[in-house]
Amino acid sequence: NIMKIDIVSVFPEYFEVLNLSLLGKAQEKGLVEVTAHNLRDWTHDVHHSVDDTPVGGGAGMVMKPEVWSECLDELLHLEPTTVTCDSTADADDTASADTAEPAESATEIAANADTVPATDRPVLIFPNPSAPLFTQQDATELSHANHLLFGCGRYEGYDARIPQYYRAQGVDVREYSIGDYVLNGGEVAVSVMLEAITRLLPGFMGNAASIVEESYTGENALLEHRQYTKPADWRGIKVPDVLLSGDHAKVDRFRRDEALAKTNELRPDLIEALDCSKLDKADRKT
Ligand code: SAM
Repeated sequence: NIMKIDIVSVFPEYFEVLNLSLLGKAQEKGLVEVTAHNLRDWTHDVHHSVDDTPVGGGAGMVMKPEVWSECLDELLHLEPTTVTCDSTADADDTASADTAEPAESATEIAANADTVPATDRPVLIFPNPSAPLFTQQDATELSHANHLLFGCGRYEGYDARIPQYYRAQGVDVREYSIGDYVLNGGEVAVSVMLEAITRLLPGFMGNAASIVEESYTGENALLEHRQYTKPADWRGIKVPDVLLSGDHAKVDRFRRDEALAKTNELRPDLIEALDCSKLDKADRKT
């Protein structure tokens, strides 16, 4: 199944560079079909304006819902309609429904990653710095979708009713932040998410095992152990002896201990989230 990816942006040319690299490789292999659309193609005024001043006052401009909806209706094959809902009600939905799933269900998704069936339902994704953080679990889940549609925000962001409306239409709408900082637009955030998702597509990586053993991956996810290559002694720094021993069980144990210690030091939250019943007997929960 080819994954269809639509990206809507006021700078669609930004995504041309992706064709050269990661997405180019995925497209060549027939894994994805990517189209970057210019949001301004759905405007009707001479200035092709996509933004307007914020209702209630304040600095900056906000992306207009009408332009986005004409574009999204067309790409999602939906007829325009009117919905009755309270514009403040969605704040809770955002946190509980499609986006901020509790850690437990994210873990379940990761555990079932290979068995999750591809869904025909398109997923509409808006990068947003004030949304829940995009994680490896989200990337894994989204790598099973058939159709992803990304909407890149600009200016002060997009009118909050846009995700609300499409959720009310039964669309699987997600809003994700890629980190606690503010970028100028959603283009970089979409590139980050796309790279995390497409490298998980079956057939993308030459060596499938390399994505199973990574940081943040699978149930009881840890940070990965340190990696070394040859030479064994480089500028006076030696690789740990055990890695040269040829004893695979010892090497595995050494790497596992190192991953646990490193995670404990740098990401105690991941250690807290470990399911102790699923730990190896030799794992020392610190
Ligand atoms: N006024 C918004 C705020 O304070 O939360 C910031 C808007 S930002 C300048 C414009 C757009 O960039 C956002 O709508 C979003 O699409 C994108 N963006 C910026 N930072 C992001 C982040 N950390 N994660 C995801 N998207 C981001």
